[in-house]
Amino acid sequence: MTPNFMKIPMSSPDLTDADRQAVIDVINTPILSLGPKVVEFEMAFCDYTGAKHAIAVNSGTAGLHLCIRAAGIGAGDLVITTPFSFVASTNALLFENAIPVFVDVDPKTGNIDPEQAADAARNVEKYLPRKVDIRNSHSEYPVSNIDWHSRLKAVLPVDVFGQPAKLDKINAIAQEHGLKVIEDSCEALGATYQGRQAGRYGDYGVFAFYPNKQMTTGEGGLIITDDDEAAGLMRALRNQGRAPGDTWLSHTYLGYNYRLDEMSAALGLAQLHRLDDMLLKREKVAGWYSERLGEIPQIEIPHISPETTRMSWFVYVIRLPQNVDRAALAKRLEARGVPIRPYFLPIHLQPYMVERFGYREGDFPVTEDLGRRGVAVPFSGVMIEEQVDYVCAALREELR
Ligand SMILES: *Cc1c(COP(=O)(O)O)cnc(C)c1O
Repeated sequence: MTPNFMKIPMSSPDLTDADRQAVIDVINTPILSLGPKVVEFEMAFCDYTGAKHAIAVNSGTAGLHLCIRAAGIGAGDLVITTPFSFVASTNALLFENAIPVFVDVDPKTGNIDPEQAADAARNVEKYLPRKVDIRNSHSEYPVSNIDWHSRLKAVLPVDVFGQPAKLDKINAIAQEHGLKVIEDSCEALGATYQGRQAGRYGDYGVFAFYPNKQMTTGEGGLIITDDDEAAGLMRALRNQGRAPGDTWLSHTYLGYNYRLDEMSAALGLAQLHRLDDMLLKREKVAGWYSERLGEIPQIEIPHISPETTRMSWFVYVIRLPQNVDRAALAKRLEARGVPIRPYFLPIHLQPYMVERFGYREGDFPVTEDLGRRGVAVPFSGVMIEEQVDYVCAALREELR
């Protein structure tokens, strides 16, 4: 019997008593940081992904930042990426005063459009932001004298909503132009593209473990790479710049405290052991949604590309028709205990981005269209079918 009022959370972590016990076991020891659990967690991640190195950090954002440092990307350097993402993928560039070279996305998936990425790699000047401030760069030259092409260093694709970007094409572009690839797989742990794991395509792949992700450590993130030198540098940078041989108070590099603590690592380890099971539960919930929402004419359900051999469901994002007042709909649904969220709000239109780079509405029409029409519905692996029924019925009625 479906209750006539349910309050449904936007997302929920999938936690068992064994997961909780793993955390308690660590708290019962004196070693709460820089201990064996992080090492074990990293080794388990190497096993799961087949990567040579795994570097655990305390957020996905920190992981992206370390990749930017390891790739040698600095002030005034250029990186091709997209504005249809969570802000962290662009912010990691801004932390080093690098400049995002935005290209628009595929209207079906929201992932980077490889044609535009290829064009940007050939003609990067054409894709520069309207306003480029290089005061913080090492160069003192006027903007007109800059050889922008030589400053193009990397491409940063995002595997949006758990679906891998067209990674073979991105890698080919990178190879042709001598660019590094930093794969933001923070939403796509466990997904595969043409049978190969997301996060394994680029020079570096980054995952994130905030509580709404497919698996959680509370806060946390992790980088995978096959590059020995980069892995060593990232390990030093996450630990205040201490290189092997440095003492607690000697620091070879300018570093950060991006360490993951032992309790979080223990939770991550327990979660990783159940990951495939948790992904199956999420897939089942997504299936319930697709069955029901696919029948509502105004709703466009997620598009899965044929190259996506395994979707790792992070969120369930539908698209509404242009004429639906999304804010008003959200209000009516909220009153029925059903939260929805606009997803994503374009990065280039965030106030600090407009101020810094002079972006305007209309600069990335596909990103903006998806941003206006996209709505995430409540989603997690622990949702039951009655809850999905309730959300879908509410949506159907409120759209009528
Ligand atoms: C979650 C996420 C991140 C990292 O987020 P943190 O909160 O720092 O762990 C980065 N990029 C994308 C696309 C994400 O969804």
